[in-house]
Amino acid sequence: MQVKPKVAILATGGTIAGAIDSSVVTTGYTAGVVGVEALIKAIPELVNLADISSNQIANINSCDMNDTIWLTLSHKINELFLTDIDGVVITHGTDTMEETAYFLSLVIKSDKPVVLVGAMRPSTAISADGPKNLYNAVALAADKNAKGKGVMIAMNDKIQGARGVVKTHTLNVDAFSSPDFGDLGYIVDGKATFYNSICKACGKNTPFDVSKLSSLPKVDILYTYSNDGNAVAARALFENGTKALIIAGSGAGNIHKDQKNILKELLKQGLIVAVSSRISAGLVAVSDEDKAFGFISAGDLNPQKARVLLMLALTKTKDTKKIQEYFLKY
Ligand code: ASP
Repeated sequence: MQVKPKVAILATGGTIAGAIDSSVVTTGYTAGVVGVEALIKAIPELVNLADISSNQIANINSCDMNDTIWLTLSHKINELFLTDIDGVVITHGTDTMEETAYFLSLVIKSDKPVVLVGAMRPSTAISADGPKNLYNAVALAADKNAKGKGVMIAMNDKIQGARGVVKTHTLNVDAFSSPDFGDLGYIVDGKATFYNSICKACGKNTPFDVSKLSSLPKVDILYTYSNDGNAVAARALFENGTKALIIAGSGAGNIHKDQKNILKELLKQGLIVAVSSRISAGLVAVSDEDKAFGFISAGDLNPQKARVLLMLALTKTKDTKKIQEYFLKY
């Protein structure tokens, strides 16, 4: 008898676990109410793919995701991968899925696959996308060829890598893509096909070890925009304990002059600033003058992912040159 792969499903909530008292409504539901056992029970075919175990880590709307859940997930997954578990699936809200995926990709110290999955329609909706997405995610986590591909997202039959993936639609079931990198592959009838392999950030090769941490450094994101006349937000955040800021700059990382002047003052007082962009694809270009001032380039990472890397970077160093190296590398 062939031994089935062992897959652990860790549930955190989201629309995949969402419900509303109507099958025709796909907004206004409550996310994170259905338990993991019910999600699994709704797909009897899962037993054909793997031996499944499950754990309810949280049951929240992922807009409320926090460091505690991230650390719990990373501790749990690193522990599971010391056992005979072959792959992990995380059910998650789609809103912040890309952030959790990137965080885990930087801290999971194993080649075994971790697959995040969610849904754009609540479990009660006509044509709910959750069951098929979860089936695909388990198939991917159980697939031998998924080893070494890092942390992935399985949504709408597509496989995306944690580093490149972005949520690109508010409501459509085809809500994720990787603008700069492309999809990693496709899942058809429970079989994964890979046609791309990007694992720039793989936890095994990073210096980030969160195994003994119970909190992460405070990093916030600041948007730049026309008419940012008073630019007080940076100062307010700094005075409230923010250690570092990601600037969601315009274009290739430009910052309104009022905001920049305040940032320069705060840099002298010890604030760390990395510049990203409001644009969803491409690199930011920080001038030599700004670099000399201490501004760090977030490279091609969008603001929400740049924040994840900067939080982890601050667990290692406050040296802006070293942090810049991390942004080039991971
Ligand atoms: N607000 C939901 C969440 O992120 C949306 C979703 O899951 O699609 O939890």
